[in-house]
Amino acid sequence: MRIDQALLSARTRLADASFKPALREANLLLARTLECSEAQLLARGRDNLDDSRLARFQELLDRRLAGEPIAYILGEKEFFGRAFFVDRRVLIPRPETEHLIEVALDLRLPAAPLILDIGTGSGCLAITLLAQLPRSRAVATDVSLAALRVAERNAGRFNVKGRLNPVAADLASAIDLAGFQLVVSNPPYIGRDEASSLSPEIIDFEPKAALFSSPAGHSLLERLLATLSDLRSGTPLLLEIGAGQAALLAEVAESSAFILEALHPDLAGIERIAQLRRR
Ligand code: GLN
Repeated sequence: MRIDQALLSARTRLADASFKPALREANLLLARTLECSEAQLLARGRDNLDDSRLARFQELLDRRLAGEPIAYILGEKEFFGRAFFVDRRVLIPRPETEHLIEVALDLRLPAAPLILDIGTGSGCLAITLLAQLPRSRAVATDVSLAALRVAERNAGRFNVKGRLNPVAADLASAIDLAGFQLVVSNPPYIGRDEASSLSPEIIDFEPKAALFSSPAGHSLLERLLATLSDLRSGTPLLLEIGAGQAALLAEVAESSAFILEALHPDLAGIERIAQLRRR
């Protein structure tokens, strides 16, 4: 079969799928199969696909049609201009989380800040900050050892391994907080009761521990802020929060050691990044 014919038939199958993945994903999957760029692929439309590559392409396409997120199949997801390695051990970085990086880069930080990323997952927050702030260092925690392996791999990919210290920890427990000049976190914030509203792509494939706050969003935020009370006065804390959690966060912050300084909306207008400061 020719490349262009394989693409056409794959696009038909994608278009017929009940959850309507993007037709362009056929290009991405075939480009991955042939280890070429999308542009090279399209230029090679009349070339023949040998049977083994066609079979490999069908295999990737079948995974996609079974609902697996394209990022897991491709093994990467772009975040703030860098292609992070991802697999089912970690949450797929989301575009709204990039906004947290923008807010962080707008803060007045010391020249060589020490950063704490709580629940690092793929490492996208800590590693992006390390890459953008060449003299910074970071500690990145996760309860999942498997996730920390992924973060380490990404640290290697973006040449910041020497400045990243991955630590297995529940939130920031057992971390000496006194030296940090910035704390960031995109904690699991979806309530268990919201599980039914998530698409199968998310609920069937992404790690539950990275999605759901247990037992409820409220107590996780409380616990997080309580865990961080040993930060030095004035230390900024940037948190990603769920849709509709701004009021809850404001309430939790009220009785915590933190002042809620600002709420930054995402592109959909949802208050998404909470900017707090240790009193
Ligand atoms: N920090 C990672 C991210 O923002 C992982 C977050 C998580 O697993 N909840 O994508």
